[in-house]
Amino acid sequence: MFWIGCHLSAANGYLAMGKDAEKIGANVFQFFTRNPRGGSVKALDREDMEAYISFGQERGFGRLLAHAPYTMNPCSADKGLREFALRMMEEDLERLELLPDVMYNFHPGSHVKQGVEVGIGMITEMLHEVLQKGGKTPILLETMAGKGSEVGRSFEEIRRIIDGVHGHERMGVCLDTCHVYDGGYDVVENLDDVLEEFHSIIGLDRLRAIHLNDSKNPMGSHKDRHEKIGDGSLGIEAISRIINHPKLIHLPFYLETPNDLEGYEREISLLRGLRKEG
Ligand code: FE
Ligand code: FE
Ligand code: ZN
Repeated sequence: MFWIGCHLSAANGYLAMGKDAEKIGANVFQFFTRNPRGGSVKALDREDMEAYISFGQERGFGRLLAHAPYTMNPCSADKGLREFALRMMEEDLERLELLPDVMYNFHPGSHVKQGVEVGIGMITEMLHEVLQKGGKTPILLETMAGKGSEVGRSFEEIRRIIDGVHGHERMGVCLDTCHVYDGGYDVVENLDDVLEEFHSIIGLDRLRAIHLNDSKNPMGSHKDRHEKIGDGSLGIEAISRIINHPKLIHLPFYLETPNDLEGYEREISLLRGLRKEG
């Protein structure tokens, strides 16, 4: 089965996202848990959630990906902002418990001027608190482009965060193809080597999702500007190798390319044409 979808607006609720996904030929999707640049959250609508659950089950949808807001910075120098991050993550995960098949993805954070050591310490401290509460939803660390003082710019940094919570079974990784390429991993010329490296440092069993994006910038640029599939520095051939790679073929792929719904529909159909199986 080819699990392919994109980021959708959560403005009209879960059932509306399910219908949008169906309309554009997606069988998975990603959404923000709350206002991505603020942090405010809508009242939980259980009826809408349950309506989506039966809709998705009837259509055989795969695993959803809930994305934490950008304002969540677990390694902020400001204690109040770290507490805000913890509160948001706990609340988000509490709500996601009501969905049968969802994963939670977040950006590890920006350490600003505190250094990566301090940053990783703060991130693991927050995760420790969150994991103590229990729950079933996998928590994914997103691989970052390394813009500014972003933590998670290398596989080693991701590994150290996972080690910081003693390799807790709920911890996983979402690999963003634009981010890793911008971060200096050559997924265009050396995809096999990059995946080998991922496996030796983190372990491919931790890899749970792919953010499938092209990039506006060259390898190692540390910029993080997504491009439409085939229009950027990765290009269509590299993207085709990614979606068909035997080590990735079972994973869900979520597009975060600059597109409206029609654009996503075109990309999904393009990718379905490139996929060798399913
Ligand atoms: Fe992200
Ligand atoms: Fe991403
Ligand atoms: Zn990005």
